[in-house]
Amino acid sequence: MPVSLPVWPRFAVSYVPLSSSHPVTSYILHQTDLRLSHSSAFMPKKAQARLNPLPLPTEMLDLIFSILLDTDRKGLAKCCLVSQSMNHIAASILYRRIRVSPIAHLDSRADHATDRFTATGKQKTNTRKKKLLKCAEIVTIDYHHASWCGNKTFKYPKLDTLVLRMNVNGLGPVLHAHDILEKQCTLVKCLEPRKVVFYESCFTNISGDMLGVPFKLLSSVEAITFVCTLTGVKPTMSWGGYPNDMSRLKKLVWIFHTPNPSTRWVPGAVSVLGRTRSHLSQDIMVLTGTIRNLPDIPILIVNAGSLDHVYVGENLWDETRGQEKFASVLKQNIIRGGYRRGVRPDPSGKWVTDQDPVNIQKELDEEAMSSKIFERITFLSMKDYLMNHNWVGELRNDEARAWLQ
Ligand SMILES: [Zn+2]
Repeated sequence: MPVSLPVWPRFAVSYVPLSSSHPVTSYILHQTDLRLSHSSAFMPKKAQARLNPLPLPTEMLDLIFSILLDTDRKGLAKCCLVSQSMNHIAASILYRRIRVSPIAHLDSRADHATDRFTATGKQKTNTRKKKLLKCAEIVTIDYHHASWCGNKTFKYPKLDTLVLRMNVNGLGPVLHAHDILEKQCTLVKCLEPRKVVFYESCFTNISGDMLGVPFKLLSSVEAITFVCTLTGVKPTMSWGGYPNDMSRLKKLVWIFHTPNPSTRWVPGAVSVLGRTRSHLSQDIMVLTGTIRNLPDIPILIVNAGSLDHVYVGENLWDETRGQEKFASVLKQNIIRGGYRRGVRPDPSGKWVTDQDPVNIQKELDEEAMSSKIFERITFLSMKDYLMNHNWVGELRNDEARAWLQ
């Protein structure tokens, strides 16, 4: 019976996650179990390759393993143990997506192979694990202490998407947690990704001072995605400026992250000193500043409609209404960010807006320019975004399933 396979999201606009119970993936895993149960894993490698020919054409296995990478990584790891020929295909796919983390059991670079040392006890520079790491296309780096990254520079020649899982402290979103301000990450410094995803970064100050993230990194990327959090306590804004060179940037996505459709988000409203700010127009100042400082590129704002209705003074939640409210406040803010006429006292002491015709024209020109900036923004629901855009590295698959149901 012919089986229709879903398409890996990297290559398609439409993605339907496939469970590991799908007939094709079940077949592969079943075959894997059978082979392992025959103890072939303990045979000499050459004998394994001879006894275990590939069950399907390489292209087919490549596609199935790519799906397993998303749906059943343990199953994919088991496929690596079947035979040398299966290992050759499955292991390189298993390492397409890796994580670099100070938490040892999460760090994909951990190497426990007994032959990783030379005869004199030194670690080899080109171990099998290091060769596999060079397959990485999506690399996630967790926040860490600056002394941990040290000089562990490693280039990933196939790197496409770099995901930076930031930590929010009193200074804003940081990659180097609990450290001095000026030190930049050597793990990130030498990388040249096409796309960077800032994950778990604070809404109120992402564009400000991203400690540990060199602006040089942003000067070469084509796509930036900010994935904001629902963290309860957020610090005040910190302004660290914007990268001087974003000439290669082609797209910016700002996702207001909620794990499922029934959760609402609110922007940062509590400073480190405990002072609250409760006006949307103030809370989105950094987003406004970011948008005004970007080159002429498309901007996608995703899931603004899940904005908490109580926060904006509405009685009932409605996605369309929430998105419209957000868009309206953002537009006002973008216009206010341009030139505005001053207020002066007239001879009677009454405060009036500057009526100089030159300044009136200047304000009108700036308003027209600000409106053009706003027109570059597309507002999308999370479902629309997941179905029609490449969201690799941005959401977990279980979250995507919750939205696509
Ligand atoms: Zn670092």
